[in-house]
Amino acid sequence: MTRIHALNMSETAWKEWCVSEGAKAFLGSQIIEWMTRKNCMDPMAFSNVSQSLRARLAESFDWSLPAVDTVLQSDDQSEKILLKTHDNLFTECVLMPSENRVTLCVSSQVGCRMACTFCQTGKMGLSRNLTRGEILAQIILANRRLIERNDERRVTNIVFMGMGEPLDNFDEVVAACEVMLDERFFALSKHRVTVSTSGLVPAIEELGKRVPVSLAISLHSADDEQRSGMMPVNKKYPLSELKETLLRYPVQTRHGITFEYVMINGVNDSIQHAKKLVKFLHGLKAKVNLIPMNPHPGTTMVATDPERMRDFQKYLGERSIPAPVRYSRGQDVSAACGQLASKRKNELALAPRTVALARRKEWLDSRK
Ligand code: SF4
Repeated sequence: MTRIHALNMSETAWKEWCVSEGAKAFLGSQIIEWMTRKNCMDPMAFSNVSQSLRARLAESFDWSLPAVDTVLQSDDQSEKILLKTHDNLFTECVLMPSENRVTLCVSSQVGCRMACTFCQTGKMGLSRNLTRGEILAQIILANRRLIERNDERRVTNIVFMGMGEPLDNFDEVVAACEVMLDERFFALSKHRVTVSTSGLVPAIEELGKRVPVSLAISLHSADDEQRSGMMPVNKKYPLSELKETLLRYPVQTRHGITFEYVMINGVNDSIQHAKKLVKFLHGLKAKVNLIPMNPHPGTTMVATDPERMRDFQKYLGERSIPAPVRYSRGQDVSAACGQLASKRKNELALAPRTVALARRKEWLDSRK
């Protein structure tokens, strides 16, 4: 019989289980505390639990974490962690320590069905949703990596910008966010947990009611026709509907809603595009992250050149819209948005020897 994964149990389910085993209900919350705050997935080490209950925990639940398949360290100190799930699928998270924070970019799905044209993950299609436990496991594994790196800090910021559309896996993402925000568990500030969506309008509305997280929108164009070409989701939920919902969204941060805007040379980066963007943002408290397009195989699209990017940024700045340029971290190790997992997926289609050679080359390259 398949055992339920310990990280997939809600607090209520844990309490009920404890009571059914003749223990106090509050022990249920402490079990989650062991896994999240104390980073411990070995129930035999739960010192405040009786010996017999520890044994019952060990035999009744699955305590395994996804296997770390590969860790690639970038020149900029970020690390791509490629994870292999129990059913042999690949997903990934990216650990990005900086001076005053440790950000973890997490995945919410294996692949993605939103099919954005500029995104490597979009080309994979959706394999399956990750469970809340598989999402939370990424934080536990990232905290373990920090320990291995002799970094005393722990993950402080979460961004749902890895593989997948988080709001396409709504219940699991919300459940994971609740554990992240709970001060007894991961205790992350609501300003520091950001859910980024391509624009699933009804789910944005619902998210605002369910959990107080920061919101980011992958916008990339403020022109309906162009956005529909780049992001099929826009055909179903055009900009006017998106904006209406955003105007009602309970904003959690000082800067309001973050808009991600991938700058693609000659596609969405003219002053005309900037004008449309300003018009779209009118009335919203907004910050725009300008992200130079990540190069990836199979696309002819390239990043906007720096001068053009500065003009675009200046146009927004002069209209009181903060627009920092954000370079995706870890590009040298394919750490930017879905690159490594899809690379590994393609690799697995090759013969074993070819895989071995490719891995060796990757390892050698990573040491250059
Ligand atoms: S940009 Fe995000 S929503 Fe679009 S295909 Fe990529 S992962 Fe999915």
